[in-house]
Amino acid sequence: MGITMILMVMTTFLRLTEQLQLDLTCTNLCSCGQCSTMSTPEKCCCCTSVAAVNEKVISASIKCITEHEGFIVNCLNNYVLESSYYEYIQENGRLGENEFIHELYRYIAYRRFSRWIWHILGRKNRRILPACVVMKIREQFPSEEYCGFKYPA
Ligand SMILES: [Zn+2]
Ligand SMILES: [Zn+2]
Repeated sequence: MGITMILMVMTTFLRLTEQLQLDLTCTNLCSCGQCSTMSTPEKCCCCTSVAAVNEKVISASIKCITEHEGFIVNCLNNYVLESSYYEYIQENGRLGENEFIHELYRYIAYRRFSRWIWHILGRKNRRILPACVVMKIREQFPSEEYCGFKYPA
């Protein structure tokens, strides 16, 4: 593997991990009923334990943010994600050989979630994403062979 290749892989990795904090370090137990299958409960960060998210859960009279219409249309709708994908590649260039489209879709969905909840994105505004949200997005955007729709070529 040449040095440019290594650099490319590294930038891709940085690009995808930037702004996202997926290690679920908060200690709250799940009370929305959707985080339970995620690894160990003590590593789980429930949507109801994140203040800004919980506000939306309460005002919509639902149990979990993943039932919220705002979440469903913003983060699970593959047409919405497709548009964001084109925006992303216009700004960042096409996917490299070691990049997977489903991973990018998930990344875009996480970003859309953060944008919807906290309005601002950026290194200084890192937020922990609730486990139920991460799980739903993973479920919705699996690798190409398991996916119910076709990712853009
Ligand atoms: Zn939960
Ligand atoms: Zn939840």
